[in-house]
Amino acid sequence: MLDLKSYEVWFVTGSQHLYGEETLRQVDEHSKVIADSFNNSPEIPVKVIFKPVVKTPDEILQICREANVAPNCVGIITWMHTFSPAKMWIRGLTALQVPLLHLHTQFNRDIPYNEIDMDFMNLNQSAHGDREFGHIMTKMRLNRKVVVGHWQAASVLEKINTWTRVSVAKYKMQTMKVVRFGDNMRQVAVTDGDKVSAEMKFGFSVNTHAVGDLVQVINQISDAEIGKLIQEYEDTYDLMTSLGKGGGRRSSLYEAARIELGLKAFLEDGGYSAYTNTFEDLHGMRQLPGIGSQRMMAAGYGYGGEGDWKTSAMVHIMKVMASGMKGGNSFMEDYTYHFDPVNSMVLGSHMLEICPTIATQKVKCEVHPLGIGGKEDPVRLVFNAAAGPALNVSLVDLGNRFRLIVNEVEAVEVSESFPKLPTARALWKPQPSMEVGLQAWILGGGAHHTVYSQNLTTEYIEDLAEMLDVELVVIDKDTTIRGLKNELRFNEFAYK
Ligand code: MN
Repeated sequence: MLDLKSYEVWFVTGSQHLYGEETLRQVDEHSKVIADSFNNSPEIPVKVIFKPVVKTPDEILQICREANVAPNCVGIITWMHTFSPAKMWIRGLTALQVPLLHLHTQFNRDIPYNEIDMDFMNLNQSAHGDREFGHIMTKMRLNRKVVVGHWQAASVLEKINTWTRVSVAKYKMQTMKVVRFGDNMRQVAVTDGDKVSAEMKFGFSVNTHAVGDLVQVINQISDAEIGKLIQEYEDTYDLMTSLGKGGGRRSSLYEAARIELGLKAFLEDGGYSAYTNTFEDLHGMRQLPGIGSQRMMAAGYGYGGEGDWKTSAMVHIMKVMASGMKGGNSFMEDYTYHFDPVNSMVLGSHMLEICPTIATQKVKCEVHPLGIGGKEDPVRLVFNAAAGPALNVSLVDLGNRFRLIVNEVEAVEVSESFPKLPTARALWKPQPSMEVGLQAWILGGGAHHTVYSQNLTTEYIEDLAEMLDVELVVIDKDTTIRGLKNELRFNEFAYK
């Protein structure tokens, strides 16, 4: 699991020399109290570093340049305790390359009715100081997050938590590497796209390796390593009898473990944090990786089936955001529908590769035929996904731009037993309804593959879209088809 505490955001307060030494000393002191409180807050997962108050265009430019190059600095939080004339910020903001959160707060929560005098008014001016700062950022067309409220309020801490997690994800994206074993599934449109534009937009690189390169690593895995991993399988999952010691399919489990260890070694050696493969290109492999891909996802790697590198990258990115949170994130596919008019639902699944971090109860380890790909029966983990609110997130390439699509869904408890379904499964109800949710998704061009998240909210994806300057289409309880069609129509012009 990623240690978010190894990343930092800087707390930068703006002011000016007009107020004199004593006021500036208090500005510094109050800023330090807020920054330290954030740094010690269990709600905020990264380090928050206090920076001395900036008062001139040169100081502002300097701190922005430092934030750009400081190792592990993922963003800055700004606040104007007093009035900081915003022309002073133009140079700094022009140079700034890390995400910015504008915290519109004030040191005191309440107006001290009996004590308030002009000294107090002189010091506590963020109500208008932050407006001056906000104006210049709007005039400069800069994307940022504005958070409003007292700095100790739970809602403010939660918004900062969200933004810092997304900032770490954006930072990681800049150096992230995705490896593809083979190309996309033949003739499929949505899993394809412009990898060069993606690297320019998101920072992650997508490159291919022949599946034979992976096979070579798989074939070098020792029996001792395989034995150790099989022990781990036995300790962690309910193995079907034939996969157990002395069982008729034990050799399939042995092969699956070898594939998992090969994948792990290949990804670690290459510094890859996400990968894709396809059942159409498995030369030299005896099984399509099932349990191996499922467990690599559980360990934090991104995965996309059938060469889907965009979804694979997003699986990893969303796992980074959700680091240490309860619940899971998985590669997912809208598979089949339940059109019962009073209880309509989507059955989400994949041939094999659903991440066990979304499982409720114990996970079973089974082997079954696959039906496609023409290889030996793959070993896979079979389980039900937990009930509760969730998201489906899709990243698509529209030719002139990328679009992120989010559908908020409500997962329901899987109470049916599915005695013949040999895959992990989830059941959910799309917002605002089955009919409108699916209609909106299809009009928005959303893929059949998604990242399914139990622990992230739409606000995470909204922050990410803002940082990357990517179009975002949200389908939630307020979505209407008429409104959505207009939004898509207007966006065609906004992104022309
Ligand atoms: Mn698929």
